[in-house]
Amino acid sequence: MLTQNEVLAHEGGTPVISTHQIPKPRKRWGGSELESLRSMLEEPTLFYWKHASVKALVENFRMHYPLEYVMPCSSGTAAIHIALCAAGIAPGDEVITSPVTDMGTVIGILYQQGVPVFADLGRRTYNLNPRDVEARITPKTKAIIAVHLTGNPCDMEALGHIAKKHGLILIEDCAQAWGTRWRGRPVGTIGDIGCYSLNDFKHVGCGDGGIVATNNTRYGPLLQRFGDKGYDRTTGSHSTEALAPCYRMSAPQAAVAAVQLNRLEAISKTRNHLGNLLCSLLDGIPGILPQKIHQEDFSSYWFTMMRVELNRFRVGRNDFAAALRAEGLQAGAGYIPTPVYQYKVFTEANFFGGRWPLRESGLTTMDYNKVSCPEAEAILKTAVRLEVKEWMTEEYMHLAAAAIRKVAAHYLIP
Ligand SMILES: *Cc1c(COP(=O)(O)O)cnc(C)c1O
Repeated sequence: MLTQNEVLAHEGGTPVISTHQIPKPRKRWGGSELESLRSMLEEPTLFYWKHASVKALVENFRMHYPLEYVMPCSSGTAAIHIALCAAGIAPGDEVITSPVTDMGTVIGILYQQGVPVFADLGRRTYNLNPRDVEARITPKTKAIIAVHLTGNPCDMEALGHIAKKHGLILIEDCAQAWGTRWRGRPVGTIGDIGCYSLNDFKHVGCGDGGIVATNNTRYGPLLQRFGDKGYDRTTGSHSTEALAPCYRMSAPQAAVAAVQLNRLEAISKTRNHLGNLLCSLLDGIPGILPQKIHQEDFSSYWFTMMRVELNRFRVGRNDFAAALRAEGLQAGAGYIPTPVYQYKVFTEANFFGGRWPLRESGLTTMDYNKVSCPEAEAILKTAVRLEVKEWMTEEYMHLAAAAIRKVAAHYLIP
């Protein structure tokens, strides 16, 4: 007979994690943010150009990311759009990216009249599979957006090699990867342009904000103009040379973001330690595939996902996740509901008032109903999302692993 501790909490047993053992979120803003906001108000303007708080943000950013050209902007989505503008994405140009990501990765491609082309992912990394990326290159391909999903860096060696070989611009979407390092190098400094988000849910944030940055002397000087209506603040010229959106960051955002970056190292270090610990504890549980981080890489774990081998269990993924939640674990069934190409906006090509001028004019034949990335689809059907936060502890990660071990053992088909 099963003891009370072996019966699933779902079925009336005792949860592995009791309420008082669940770590409480730590306060994210403190005296340094308040002080920064106060001194920000000493200036007679809140405009970004030359404001001390924006300068402080850029300087602090450069301590983590040694990049020459840095444009603070209104969001991560804006950062990526600015990068695509600077890269010169034009009607019909194809941009290869991941189908398991935030809409912010692809919005800019569509507004530039480019065509998002989705490539499949690695089974255990959930990042772009370089071989599939290369297979989807056509004469129209102009760029790759590498998304470092969950804070796990992409295979930048392979992607860099492909970009070089085919003359493509390599943009890094680092929205989920503050503090992440690939082979020791901070992400966003490896490809041609790096894009970061400071929205409320990221490792560091200021409500909403973003940064786009590069060392590239061709794209670099364009970043400021493409985030600011085409105006060149360095010369003061309002005589614009190219159409550009207005994605400026304001001084209050910068004041918070600048000091938030001081917290980055501690946040990413703790998350890296706890995330690695959790993944290692899950390694070897029958039917469970923890996320794979390359040995030489540093993931800052925005979160992690494990995959459940569905043919080995008596329940589906959603019930598996629900059983984990009953054990007191914050576990979600999957990440986004489907790969983004299955969203209505794509299947109905509902881009510009229900129309897609690009296809009407014959510049693309893309039909998102026909896109297939089997591994990405399988990942989203089998993934269980696990939280990794800087306020969690080693002890909690051991409890989390115990909960997963208990539920997996219970449902495993002998
Ligand atoms: C959050 C996020 C974005 C967009 O950032 P916003 O600041 O919300 O615009 C883009 N890509 C990825 C992978 C993200 O997680």
